[in-house]
Amino acid sequence: MARSLSQLAGIPVTELKGVGEAKARSLAAVEVHTVLDLLTLYPRRYIDRTREARIADLVEGEEAMVLVRVTRASTRRTRNRKVMVTVDVTDGDRSLRATFFNQPWRERQLGPGTNAILFGKLERFGGRPQMTNPVVDLVGDRTGRIIAVYPQSEKAGLMSWDIARWMEEVLERAGEFAEPVAASTLRRYGLTGRTRAFRHIHVPESMADVEVARRRLVFDELLRVQLSLVERKHRLEVESRGIEHPVDVLHHLARFVDGLPFPLTGAQRRVIDEVRSDMGRPQPMHRLLQGDVGAGKTLVAVAMLLIAVEGGHQGALMAPTGVLAEQHAAGVTALLTGFEVDSPGTLLPTRPLAVELLTNRTTAAERRKLLGRLAGGEVDILIGTHALIQEGVEFGSLGAVVIDEQHRFGVEQRAALRAANVDGRVPDVLVMTATPIPRTAAMTVYGDLDVSVLDELPPGRTPIRTEWVEVGADSEVEGQESAAEVAMWEKVRSEVAAGRQAYVVCPLVDESEKLEVASAEATFEQLQVTELAGLRLGLLHGRVAPADKEETMGRFRRGEVDVLVATTVIEVGVDVPNATVMVILDADRFGIAQLHQLRGRVGRGADRSWCYLVGSGATPDGRARLEALVRSTDGFELAEIDLDLRGEGTLMGERQKGRNDLKLASLRRDRDWVVKAREVAIDIVANDPTLDAHAMLASELALILGDDDTSEFLLKS
Ligand code: ADP
Ligand code: MG
Repeated sequence: MARSLSQLAGIPVTELKGVGEAKARSLAAVEVHTVLDLLTLYPRRYIDRTREARIADLVEGEEAMVLVRVTRASTRRTRNRKVMVTVDVTDGDRSLRATFFNQPWRERQLGPGTNAILFGKLERFGGRPQMTNPVVDLVGDRTGRIIAVYPQSEKAGLMSWDIARWMEEVLERAGEFAEPVAASTLRRYGLTGRTRAFRHIHVPESMADVEVARRRLVFDELLRVQLSLVERKHRLEVESRGIEHPVDVLHHLARFVDGLPFPLTGAQRRVIDEVRSDMGRPQPMHRLLQGDVGAGKTLVAVAMLLIAVEGGHQGALMAPTGVLAEQHAAGVTALLTGFEVDSPGTLLPTRPLAVELLTNRTTAAERRKLLGRLAGGEVDILIGTHALIQEGVEFGSLGAVVIDEQHRFGVEQRAALRAANVDGRVPDVLVMTATPIPRTAAMTVYGDLDVSVLDELPPGRTPIRTEWVEVGADSEVEGQESAAEVAMWEKVRSEVAAGRQAYVVCPLVDESEKLEVASAEATFEQLQVTELAGLRLGLLHGRVAPADKEETMGRFRRGEVDVLVATTVIEVGVDVPNATVMVILDADRFGIAQLHQLRGRVGRGADRSWCYLVGSGATPDGRARLEALVRSTDGFELAEIDLDLRGEGTLMGERQKGRNDLKLASLRRDRDWVVKAREVAIDIVANDPTLDAHAMLASELALILGDDDTSEFLLKS
């Protein structure tokens, strides 16, 4: 009978020949416990023996790969006390010397008789062929044209050839693999069968085999992720009861929109309509709002909260930082002054619409009072940080939740805010991302949400002019400013003279907040007596006490501070339309998304704005990032470039921790397959929502993603 993955997951690796206690311990060190774990330990790369050379054919100065046997290895110290391991090798015909510096373990690794593949540049030393610090792959006595190289672990005592040998045993003993995907689907997408895919990823006969195998296994990984997301989305829709907000006549919303000093953009109107019609449905809304910096997401959020208030419910807005929560509270309060809501049970028919703030700075007494009013329905809109989801925060009737997410909240936190009201009905949820992420990444990270896109900036914005200022580019003397730097500081001064404001973002110090604070303080002190002498400067960093932080932000907002010198604490959401210059020091240390966010702090009014990226562009990646920022102001385009440069690791980040099954798949390289896998998942769930007819897929979901939701649903079905 064909093997299922669940069966393989039930067999410990010790069942394999050659895996005794010691090797089992080694495997456990790399998280391989079962035969399934081993099977999905994929090769790091492949050696194509058809491209292997003989020592006699090697050309000086060129890189090449040779298969050799070690004849002698020895260690000595050089005059400047470096450890040098010298290894003589032969291909049976000619010999070659490999020299390793500061790799003392090579002598033990490359004992006489060891077979190895060396990859390096050929040099000649006293007429004799030699390689310095070549890449070494130990392949044992493996034959075949393509050799899979597995992640080896010297420390764990795990060798590539051991793994390869066990893999052959696994493949042989497993025989046929059960096929969870319909033959018609495999045909439609040109995918190979699972048996062949597992065989060829480990024991290929050509590099083309590897490609075909990889594609199928990538599809399986992506399909599992998409199935679990699509299934979860479907289940939330059918199983949880939402609030059917009245949406036909919306006095608050109409009044709010009419009262704005500008018309909504087409995109804002469209997205508000999407939210409105979702909210009118009995199923709870669960929607992601993607919009570029400055696209006007806040107004969409307020519109949503007002729809909830109109029907007599409450709204919550959760922001990632205290500064942002306070800013949102101030902004929303200002937007909603003069609004009245019904006030049943009191003497007056109406009372002012109440917007309140709850953060960790709220005192215990204030909090107690606030929570009482919240439970009694006397607070209409509550704005805050994580404090909103702490124990004891209970709403009278929570109807709408906006999460201003900026990648900082996890699935669990979202779930906490979605918790049902006393009557069992769950609120509608809108998640807003600060920085756009590519479509396929959104499908993976937020695949259980509907997506709205604000793809239009409010009119009348002059595009921000971005310049890359190379430090010391044309200066003769070390430490002296280049002409471009001088011009930049001049621009800051002239804008301030014209009544505008500026930001200076200080170098990022990854290793230590303390150093970062020190660097911000030093920059602040220095600017005050040099380039920006005579201007009113403010300083903001992670160690400034919250009260002082708010005080400084307040002074900056009121125009009492000309230039705000800050670390990335100002990165997200800070909105001071009068600020027109952004200077980012050491810009090559920041990521694309971060630079785009920072740049988005200016260009928020109708005035022309400037962004200066100060950096050396010393690394190719750093250069690529700065060039991208200069070239484009489109967050969606930058997100694609970012994914190309960085890969998805960071993007998936915390969010997917523990449920990331993507061992082979790459959201970047396999973009098309993300879309295809989602198509297939939607199709499967639409026809078979409980996956009754797809039992094998369902059990793989539970097995590999280990998702609570999934197992819960399996128990039920
Ligand atoms: P973000 O999407 O980055 O959160 P905000 O909601 O903070 O953007 O809006 C950015 C700025 O644009 C704010 O100052 C806001 O008042 C302004 N704004 C929003 N919508 C419009 C519009 N339709 N027309 C003109 N200005 C707008
Ligand atoms: Mg915002």
